[in-house]
Amino acid sequence: MLVYAAMFGLAFGSFVNAAIERIPRGESLNGRSHCDGCHRALRVWELIPVLSFVALRGRCSSCGVAIGLRTPLVEGICAAAFVAAFWMLAVPVAVATCAGFVAIVVAIGVAFVKKDLQS
Ligand SMILES: [Zn+2]
Repeated sequence: MLVYAAMFGLAFGSFVNAAIERIPRGESLNGRSHCDGCHRALRVWELIPVLSFVALRGRCSSCGVAIGLRTPLVEGICAAAFVAAFWMLAVPVAVATCAGFVAIVVAIGVAFVKKDLQS
């Protein structure tokens, strides 16, 4: 159960990162993720949470632009939060807690990126 919670946490962390990057720029949440430097669509193996960042050493495999530590950090934090919720709470409460956590992290991340874009 906790392994699945971690995998869902990583997957939702990946979604959270996409939302944090795209919402402030008015981009759609649909469509493939792409490199911010060269705008190349990421390959399937480049989309694996945390592992891809480690394999790529934090850089785009095409243009070498830095990916930023926020990406694996958000994915890891979401995985840890999901594991903690499913470990401590009954399943329905854990699902609701995780959904609330994702919404809060997206809101905080969007606020930070909006502030960065304005400055
Ligand atoms: Zn690139």
